Amino acid sequence: MDCIFCKIAAKEIPARVAFENERLIAFHDLFPQAPLHLLIIPKAHYSTLNDVPSSEASLLGEIMDTARQLAADHGMAADGYRVVMNCNKHGGQSVDHIHLHLLAGRQLGWPPG
Ligand code: 5GP
Ligand code: ZN
Repeated sequence: MDCIFCKIAAKEIPARVAFENERLIAFHDLFPQAPLHLLIIPKAHYSTLNDVPSSEASLLGEIMDTARQLAADHGMAADGYRVVMNCNKHGGQSVDHIHLHLLAGRQLGWPPG
């Protein structure tokens, strides 16, 4: 499949990997929007959040839990951080393999543009 994040998960494209297990991989965003900007993805391909069945809700939970742990591992838990999953055009999704952004290390603005 011609999916850049599947290729990162398969180590066919290099990335700065921060965490990995059998189901997930977390790596640094190529164009970081904050001092810490990680992408946490399932190794299984789901194009958008719309495509994840409710039977895989535990996978979504594990992605969120991993973001929380990575924020703590990087010393960002107390100051805070943001997790974002964009979906489709209005959400601003540009890579069609679900990914949770973990942004930390500076004051983030709200609301998003
Ligand atoms: P989206 O806009 O879909 O929510 O986020 C996609 C993110 O993937 C963007 O922040 C973009 O910088 C990042 N990205 C796109 N291509 C690559 C790549 O080849 N490697 C890495 N590490 N990040 C990428
Ligand atoms: Zn994929």
